[in-house]
Amino acid sequence: MIDQLTKYAAKLAEAGLCAPGEPLLAALDAELCLSHAGDARQPVADAVIYGLGASALLLAEPIGACQGTMLALARQALEAGQSAVIPGDCETRTFLHDLPVVDGESTGDLANAIIDALKRRKGCIVLHQGRALMAAAGSVSPEQTFVTASSMAFACFVAYFSQHLHAARAGRLTPKRRAEFARIRALLLADLARLPSAQPRLLPGPFAGADQARAAMIEAGRAVVEYGLVDSSFGNVSCRQHTPDGELLLVSQTGSALDELSGLIDPCRMDGSSCVGLTASSEYSAHKAIYDGGPARVILHGHPRFAVILSLDCDKLDCPGLGDCHRACATPRAVVVPAMPAGEATADGTAADTASPLLIPIVPGEVGTGPYGLCNTLPQALNAEGGRRGAIVYGHGLFATGREDFREAFATLLEVERFCREEYFRRVAELDQQSSSA
Ligand SMILES: [Zn+2]
Repeated sequence: MIDQLTKYAAKLAEAGLCAPGEPLLAALDAELCLSHAGDARQPVADAVIYGLGASALLLAEPIGACQGTMLALARQALEAGQSAVIPGDCETRTFLHDLPVVDGESTGDLANAIIDALKRRKGCIVLHQGRALMAAAGSVSPEQTFVTASSMAFACFVAYFSQHLHAARAGRLTPKRRAEFARIRALLLADLARLPSAQPRLLPGPFAGADQARAAMIEAGRAVVEYGLVDSSFGNVSCRQHTPDGELLLVSQTGSALDELSGLIDPCRMDGSSCVGLTASSEYSAHKAIYDGGPARVILHGHPRFAVILSLDCDKLDCPGLGDCHRACATPRAVVVPAMPAGEATADGTAADTASPLLIPIVPGEVGTGPYGLCNTLPQALNAEGGRRGAIVYGHGLFATGREDFREAFATLLEVERFCREEYFRRVAELDQQSSSA
């Protein structure tokens, strides 16, 4: 059990969300097991895990932009008299709902306040000694607390930057908000400097068979996590592969960590005659429809933060469809990545045609196969005009395709996210300037 606890503590640090060795993970087996000894928070962890009757608990202090955004949102919520942060992205809508805020500065009984919050939700934000802490409980395994914590970090990041851009659009930025934003932006730039800058070396296609295709998927999944383009337990990857037994759609299993796909890839038949179905990714039907109707051979899906943030940005502040954008936005929208200057081609020089702008449509679509499901909107967008390199699902993430292997799809994820980040800060600066000169 201790291996599990140290593994997930280390994964939070690898993701740049916490300092190495900082997260405290606890599990209640026959006895209480801890990721490390001598942590000042241990009495609180003890009280919470026994009080909740949970089998796993995590207490961790985020760093960098994750700390900045979480702290800002939690304080704003309390100032507005709200007891929770309410993010608007898809991952949170379906997985976390909202994030209760525990005001550790004003409560005399921190453990009980955390227990109350964790009875309602998988995770909560705790304000303690001027910092934001994440608390998460699991009923089955320590992995659940890791998934919740990384999801909370993603949710707060997206919510903070989205709300700031929205406030800039509405002309509601105050000097205090601007100063806070500048601080958080500096933290973000420091975070980004820690990410790998060289392109990953990914297996070139076409793949020789199902085993090689699986190896390429495992490698690509790991790269998406390493480059910060998804939290490890979200996102998915698939590959259409000829085999002696017919054509297969290999797809990562639902809930599998994208950086640990070994043994977690399902073989489904392209002719639909058999599918492991139940364990395959929740977005399997969308992948299938994309392959059925277009030229893609691989699909790589991540939740790159600024791509998600830009998808949430809209200048129609009084749109009658507001609140339903993720299901049924009727306005055609897109991100257009300008042509890159020669010499900046990425991914082993195979970043396809960089001489023309890259049009990435933004489409609505819920996870799953319902009437508003992304299995209807996404394949249409990706297969238009002879096949597109990528599409963003509103408030959710980016689906990138490749015609031969994962190099092209990975390059699209990376290029689109870099562009969206620059475009985000450009929009904020422009809007802010307009409102201050008005
Ligand atoms: Zn997704």
